[in-house]
Amino acid sequence: MTIHHTGAVLGDNKNAPGRLRQHQRLHQGERGWIDIAYHVGVDRNGNIYELRRPEIVGDTATEYNPTGHFLVLCEGDFDQEVVTEAQLDSAALAFAWAAQTYKISDDVVRGHRDFASTACPGADLYARVQSGDLQGRIEKNIAAGTVDLRSVCGPEAKDAVAKIEAGL
Ligand SMILES: [Zn+2]
Repeated sequence: MTIHHTGAVLGDNKNAPGRLRQHQRLHQGERGWIDIAYHVGVDRNGNIYELRRPEIVGDTATEYNPTGHFLVLCEGDFDQEVVTEAQLDSAALAFAWAAQTYKISDDVVRGHRDFASTACPGADLYARVQSGDLQGRIEKNIAAGTVDLRSVCGPEAKDAVAKIEAGL
């Protein structure tokens, strides 16, 4: 399980869906990948976005092989911004869900920089990986029982995104 950041300052959380669309255009259009490189994204308010299906291996422009990794993307540049509690909690929830759903080991969450030469996931977020903070949050979710992530699509998803973009 590997955590990433976008490396682009997010600023206001209203920007989050638009930034993901930009990211998707870059990855599909310029890089020629099937979709955005990661499995789920998490914004500063803890909203979780479905990116590529977890059954499909991630992509990377760096020199590690993401086969077998579940990839979570936190929106922001954590060399310049501070990760929020809501963002960490939702990243942990997504990792716990993936560990249960895909039977992957729940005791190995790492930062991208542990596998490749990159600043990702940024100093502030990486400190939360190294300290065991993120791992502790994942374990807490797993200890509490089955992690259920409810997927929304269609009009309900459109409405949810519109609310995020309106700052509600
Ligand atoms: Zn990364």
